[in-house]
Amino acid sequence: MQNNNPISQLIKILNALPGIGGRSARRIALHLITNNNTGLLQLSDSLKNIHENIKKCEICNNIDTISPCTICSSEKRDKKTICVIADVMDLWAIERSSSYKGLYHILGGILSAIDGVGPDDLSIDRLVNRIKSEEVTEVILALSATVDGQSTAHYITDKLSEFKELKITRLAHGMPIGGELDYLDDGTIITAFKSRLSI
Ligand SMILES: [Zn+2]
Repeated sequence: MQNNNPISQLIKILNALPGIGGRSARRIALHLITNNNTGLLQLSDSLKNIHENIKKCEICNNIDTISPCTICSSEKRDKKTICVIADVMDLWAIERSSSYKGLYHILGGILSAIDGVGPDDLSIDRLVNRIKSEEVTEVILALSATVDGQSTAHYITDKLSEFKELKITRLAHGMPIGGELDYLDDGTIITAFKSRLSI
């Protein structure tokens, strides 16, 4: 098959996605093409819709079709609690577990000397401003139990030490050492939230 062939191009695009190797890319492409064309059309409509409507929440950095996002603008969420997470995948994992009803703050990554990620690359100043301007009483640091995740948690704890009344907690039991939040099952996330510890 030639490289400029539309099928080759589709396979190439799929192959560039995270976690999709050449064989999976070919299988997905074949499935989309042979599934009476509906799969392909649904996918193209969905991608077009996302491209046209997706926004980053001006408050918490979540991605949604509105800003402030559905969570930040919901009356049902506990506005006194902010859960600090590295990225949107973590928010999805926690929401799947239905164990948390507060708000979020997405940092956009974690501190990493190796990857050259410093405090200015993360949304930490905005978190501090939120605590100044919103009526927050607890911040939950739900960061991965890796060295970088924990040094990020320490850095944020230091930054928030000026707020004497603020309770700062972190996830506890169930978080395996070296564990990524997104890989945990729902039950583990629920346990980790219930048994969070004060820092
Ligand atoms: Zn939001």
